[in-house]
Amino acid sequence: MGDLHIARRERLGGLVADQGADAALVTRLVNVRYLTGLDSSNAALLVRPDGTAVLCTDGRYAGMAAAVCPELECVVDRAVALTLTARAVKDGAGRLAFEAHDVTVELHVKLAAEAPGPGLVPLGRAVEELRKIKDEAEIALLREACAITDRAFDAVLPRLRPGVTEREIATALERTMVDLGAEKPAFESIVASGPNGAFPHHHTGDRVIAAGDLVTMDFGALYDGYHADMTRTVAVGTLADWQRDVYDLVQRAQQAGLDAVRPGADTKAIDAAARNVIVDAGHGDDFPHGLGHGVGLEIHEAPLMGYDRTGKLEGRVPVTVEPGVYLGGRGGVRIEDTLVVRPGGPELLTQTSKELLVV
Ligand code: ZN
Ligand code: ZN
Repeated sequence: MGDLHIARRERLGGLVADQGADAALVTRLVNVRYLTGLDSSNAALLVRPDGTAVLCTDGRYAGMAAAVCPELECVVDRAVALTLTARAVKDGAGRLAFEAHDVTVELHVKLAAEAPGPGLVPLGRAVEELRKIKDEAEIALLREACAITDRAFDAVLPRLRPGVTEREIATALERTMVDLGAEKPAFESIVASGPNGAFPHHHTGDRVIAAGDLVTMDFGALYDGYHADMTRTVAVGTLADWQRDVYDLVQRAQQAGLDAVRPGADTKAIDAAARNVIVDAGHGDDFPHGLGHGVGLEIHEAPLMGYDRTGKLEGRVPVTVEPGVYLGGRGGVRIEDTLVVRPGGPELLTQTSKELLVV
């Protein structure tokens, strides 16, 4: 991936030049990983307008850095941000752009002492913006993360029956994903049964699943740094009319959302396409979250798709579409896919069936 990382640093360098800064100090670890390939708990990167860069990490990761990004100059020091700020000043940088959404007030005081005068200027979320549109190598990793997620669902579904607990299903999904090649779960799996399904982000617990429950499973695999995200709701034992009605409603809303996904579409309009289906059925108040979010090196990243978020979708942007309806005391339904925006319509990465299953 060396060439990819070089190209990413050159794109960032262009943005740094546009901002009139002399260099950018990248401190968010996920952004350092995106720009170098180095996955560590302590590293920072100094990027100049021409795309050349200096990496700083501590002794635990120096060997890994040499292996992963041998093309980069690497300074070994524990105080990564301070070391690179001193380096920028020494190289003659007057304006150093920094990630204000990451640097703490405490660190900012130290950096400002190192780079006085006009010194530190905000970079904004420039690297997050670059990360939004994925290259095909990244999409291939996401595709594999989602395929593992699909296979784990198929493997664990036979275990879903009255008498099993939410936690047993969550653990089985997570263990199966790792057995199938995932690094680990992409996030804490949600298994919400019966009335617990009314909480969109229920904390999986020891509730025993019973006949007549709807069970919502929201989970995904992490594969080589990339996060899959899928939700399916399944009925156990029997199916009441209201459960079928709510399922049909959410399924229609999800399809309307998928149909609205295309390059150039406004994220607010995509949210509205799905949300209007639910509002028209009189359940607008029962859908209290946004329609979806970007996925990649983070489980939630740009772009966010909500009723209060504007912005245009572009090709090669992976997003989720995940409407839900939650009825207090009774239960809920959510259906979520991870997909990639493509000119001819979205490429679904999670491919598990959305037909209503009664197990
Ligand atoms: Zn999810
Ligand atoms: Zn999601």
